[in-house]
Amino acid sequence: MTSPLDGGNLTAADLIVRHGYLITMDDERRHIEDGAIAIARGRILALGPDAEICARFSGAREIDAESAPVHPGFIECHMHASFQLYRGVLPDHMAEADAFDSVEAHFYNHVTDEDEYLAVLLSSLEMVRNGTTCFLEAGTILSPENAARAAALVGIRAILGDPFIWDQPQGFAQGKLEEKQACTTCASHARIHEKLKRAPQTREEALATLGRELRRNADPDALVTGHIAVLGLGTASEDLMMAAKAAADAAGVVLNIHQSYSPADTAADRQRFGTDPLLHLARIGFLDRNVTMGHGNHLTDAECDVFLDSGASIAWAPAASMMWGHGSMTHGRHAELYLRGGNIALGSDSSNWSNDFDLWRQASLAVLTAREVAQDRTRLVAEDGFEMATLNGARAVGMESRIGSLAAGKCADIVIHTLGRPEMQPVTDRVRGLFYSSRSKSVHTVIINGRVVLEAGQFPAFNERELLREIGRASAGLLKRMGVTVEANRINRTARARHRTRPHG
Ligand SMILES: [Zn+2]
Repeated sequence: MTSPLDGGNLTAADLIVRHGYLITMDDERRHIEDGAIAIARGRILALGPDAEICARFSGAREIDAESAPVHPGFIECHMHASFQLYRGVLPDHMAEADAFDSVEAHFYNHVTDEDEYLAVLLSSLEMVRNGTTCFLEAGTILSPENAARAAALVGIRAILGDPFIWDQPQGFAQGKLEEKQACTTCASHARIHEKLKRAPQTREEALATLGRELRRNADPDALVTGHIAVLGLGTASEDLMMAAKAAADAAGVVLNIHQSYSPADTAADRQRFGTDPLLHLARIGFLDRNVTMGHGNHLTDAECDVFLDSGASIAWAPAASMMWGHGSMTHGRHAELYLRGGNIALGSDSSNWSNDFDLWRQASLAVLTAREVAQDRTRLVAEDGFEMATLNGARAVGMESRIGSLAAGKCADIVIHTLGRPEMQPVTDRVRGLFYSSRSKSVHTVIINGRVVLEAGQFPAFNERELLREIGRASAGLLKRMGVTVEANRINRTARARHRTRPHG
């Protein structure tokens, strides 16, 4: 009989990650001090103490984590990847309604397929660098094919939706309350804004597009897959929403929708449904386990109960609410719902709503602001942030059997940090060290589907600097075609002092 030491009966692995502090997020939430992960064909074969794994497997390649934390890749559950080319353009004095009307709608009538490709590329580079290995795009990319191409180049897992599943774009309720201040009915009034020429305009057109991205799911190992996205915020009729739900059910995927984001769209939904939006959506059979709501900032007690009963998910986007002052932290029930067993995941939303695609930032804001609001240090802790960014994210995107933890059989989506940063020293508790000190700053090497996509801070597959220059040029060209000039914030402290009271809430 051959001893494992002579290599005779070692199982071949493509890659072994060695000497990591493994934060597994497995069923027992194990941490393994000097751990190793054996990987083959994109999957985790086994993980455990380094000596044990190396006695069982031989790797064609090894990566030494040098005692740094290693954890499952973070999962971005609500984001718009194509706006990245006008990141930072919206000045702080711009009202949200103006942002949608004068920039966002305008953007869609000038953006090219190549622009979208580069914007998704930029988003993906950023996410990988920040330790995110999978994202769900909220169905706002006009050419999903180009999004898929960009994701494939970077090697990130992407879950795409059909563009603009809506049939009443004029019902877009966003921003109305901000304009009229405290008017609770005006939000439901139809508003005229620039027509998005390449987006569906009618139910028939939306239905003709609905479900196209699902073809990607035929390959069980596909890195880029499809889900059903409905924009929401007053833009979809109930008929269209239920058709989308049926399509998601039939395909076994999640349905993603913006829901109860600001006081404006929540009030508009309450008016059109005649009751709290989630109560109505539960009654008609829409609110369900496979539904993931972006934001969910404004829920009543009764809505919290039906949300928990339904098993649905919320992609909490703390920065997006905080940037526009929508009350996610002060009025949101996310921490409470999470503690009651609800599936609360995290999202970054978009380039002018949170401005960076860094789930470490979202997790940190979620945990710390929840404490601040409750005035309770234990309200949420670092481990809860990990939970939301990994396991809960996996469930919110419908991939809990494949990603979200380090476990044998799961996809090898792995983030390796480095202890070689000041924020990571001294080495005390690894979870607190990561969560409160370094966050994404110490992300060093990222593996997705078994492929090393970021290696010691560099993308081995392409020249990142060259791509960034190309992205910069494309952004300048796009802004020029849009006729948008970048202006500085208009600072008038005296005027702001006069408006200290909250307009609503
Ligand atoms: Zn969104």
